[in-house]
Amino acid sequence: MKPPLIHINHVGFLPHAVKTLVVSGPPQDFFNLYRLSDTKFTLVFTGPLQRRTTELGEGLVGDFSAWNEEGIYRIECGDAVSHCFVIGAEVYRYPASMLLNFFRSQRCGDSETGWASPCHLDDQIVLSTGECRDLKGGYHQSCDLRKWPWGISLALVGLAEAALEGGNGKTREALLSEIRWGGDYLRKLQRNDGGLIDCTLVPEGFEGRAPGEVRGFEDPHALWGAREFYESDAPAPAQWQAIRFNALAFCIFQRDEPDLAKVCLEAARKGWAYMTRANRDFTAYQAPEIPPLGHEGLNIIFSGFYRDSAHETAHRLCTALALHRATRETCFLKDATNCARVLCSLQLDEEASGDRPDGACFRESTESPVLADSFFYFWRTSGPLGLVELLRLAPEHPDASIWRKAVRAVAEQYRWVAQKNVYGRCAAAWFREGANPFESPAFFTHASEEHKGSDGKYFFEDREKAGRIFYKYYNFCYNVDIMAGAVFLGKAALYFEEPAYAALAQRTLDWILGCNPFNASSVEGVGYNQPHRGLFGEFFPPVPQMPGAVFVGIDENSFDPKGQGLSNEYDLPMGGWLAWLFQSLEGPLEQLRDQ
Ligand SMILES: [Zn+2]
Repeated sequence: MKPPLIHINHVGFLPHAVKTLVVSGPPQDFFNLYRLSDTKFTLVFTGPLQRRTTELGEGLVGDFSAWNEEGIYRIECGDAVSHCFVIGAEVYRYPASMLLNFFRSQRCGDSETGWASPCHLDDQIVLSTGECRDLKGGYHQSCDLRKWPWGISLALVGLAEAALEGGNGKTREALLSEIRWGGDYLRKLQRNDGGLIDCTLVPEGFEGRAPGEVRGFEDPHALWGAREFYESDAPAPAQWQAIRFNALAFCIFQRDEPDLAKVCLEAARKGWAYMTRANRDFTAYQAPEIPPLGHEGLNIIFSGFYRDSAHETAHRLCTALALHRATRETCFLKDATNCARVLCSLQLDEEASGDRPDGACFRESTESPVLADSFFYFWRTSGPLGLVELLRLAPEHPDASIWRKAVRAVAEQYRWVAQKNVYGRCAAAWFREGANPFESPAFFTHASEEHKGSDGKYFFEDREKAGRIFYKYYNFCYNVDIMAGAVFLGKAALYFEEPAYAALAQRTLDWILGCNPFNASSVEGVGYNQPHRGLFGEFFPPVPQMPGAVFVGIDENSFDPKGQGLSNEYDLPMGGWLAWLFQSLEGPLEQLRDQ
């Protein structure tokens, strides 16, 4: 028999947070909370363990939210003992600062903090105007040396939102430093017409190879040479996210660094004009080059962006809201409400009820059977968040009742799935059978595709005769999607005054920090039992182990000793959005404390 195992957030909890634990195979139906003081453990609280549903494995759940005294604690259940954790008002301050260590360490160019810097000092492009543009700087996004505009801009949106949530002291200065550094790179990528140039970083000698020709590098030093940039547009999410980021950066620097703030707002306005121009070309994105080593599916992750699609509209919505926040100009609010109208019309069933949570999903567009909710990185970081932000900004708007139904349906969908497993885990993505854009490309097949459901019980009856709908917990890169879902839930908790949504935000953080079936933290150096980081032999020397790095989303394959850690790759967006999640937890706790 396997020993009972106590799963709990490895770091701990804010004093008034929801505090839960999960015990696998418990020897008894209650748990004890012990407080550590002067090397002695004292029993302070006893609570029942309750059996819940069993997706993601069997277990019982305990709750000690009622206990809110600061201190050092551990849980015991029969012979099983948890490691020690902390209840404290500052418990997340140091872990949040660790995330910034990853950003510092991933700096590229003439940085003094990058793990490899000075590096890639020859990054540049000669534009068709004859201008030679220096492109040093930015970040290596993940466990390779690429500087994808879409990933870096997504990470920076998370950091900027974290800064706007508050925070102070050393962590704040470090946060602002990354917002300056990353913003500099994004603005270097901006052409004079407002669009961002592209960069797929195919090292010399690999240009022009046929897609699918996956081969190792003959020269593991190849990626250290000058990289390729392209004057053509970066994918649409990179464009929108860069504008969204620059507008938020204006808000951050407006008071203390007005010159920088002005530069940020000018870049945002130029980008907005470019993306909303009347003659914009909506041709599907095609990367100028497909990098070797498993990027065959690259174009598919951007395939949800086209005229009037859910992704396009959701990104315009969030960008308009950020520009409204910066300028207070009503044209941006009006644009946001137009976007919200389109977006809400794409929801399958805004009256989605408890037994049909699939109705909260959104069509990719009026003509497509694909669900917008199927895409990683770019859906949960935009659509639902934009709607809840708009609702809080303009609750008296004539359309607000429509937005309210849409937001409520999404929040209830999160709650419905979270009740199906002992960890309170929300789904990462939803799919329609026969209309799953990610079924075949090699780029995605490593991502635990087999985990879509244990026995078919995740499926729903065919709603529109267009294929049954199902959800996944372990979707590729799921960490950023559940973090964005948690931020959304925190905002929904504030709007609806619904503590249960705030509890799910906390339980998402708990999952990231070790309360999961693997008893493993997704953050290097924070919590315990991390799997080995992704290493692909693509270049040498490889990315070192870096405290504060966040994995794309651990799963069973993460712990395969023969695997390469494809689910444990470090990735910048996860770090930026976890920073936002850390900062966003306190608001709902304070407002909803007495309910
Ligand atoms: Zn570099």
